[in-house]
Amino acid sequence: MPRKGNLTIRTSGVVITTPHDGGPVLIQDCVQCCHCQGHRIYVPGSKTKWGWCLACAGVHCATEACAKCVPWEKELEAIEAGKTPEQMPVKIAVPRTVGE
Ligand SMILES: [Zn+2]
Ligand SMILES: [Zn+2]
Repeated sequence: MPRKGNLTIRTSGVVITTPHDGGPVLIQDCVQCCHCQGHRIYVPGSKTKWGWCLACAGVHCATEACAKCVPWEKELEAIEAGKTPEQMPVKIAVPRTVGE
């Protein structure tokens, strides 16, 4: 598992590039964004910006579109309902009160 600073980036797959001219096969780790589910190639030591979402406990693209936390499950439910994620009802887990 590669590390970037204090952040451990969990890789989610690999990209295998096979050049058509017979050059060497390139295998690179990739990381999946916890918000848009897009994959980006992880190059250790590169200046690529990554964001960290505390709510999802995962890496995101650090783009404007992905900076706001909209978990993919919630986004899918909104798409199925034909609404935007903001129009969806908020689900909150409330502990049952003891003694009632
Ligand atoms: Zn993203
Ligand atoms: Zn998030």
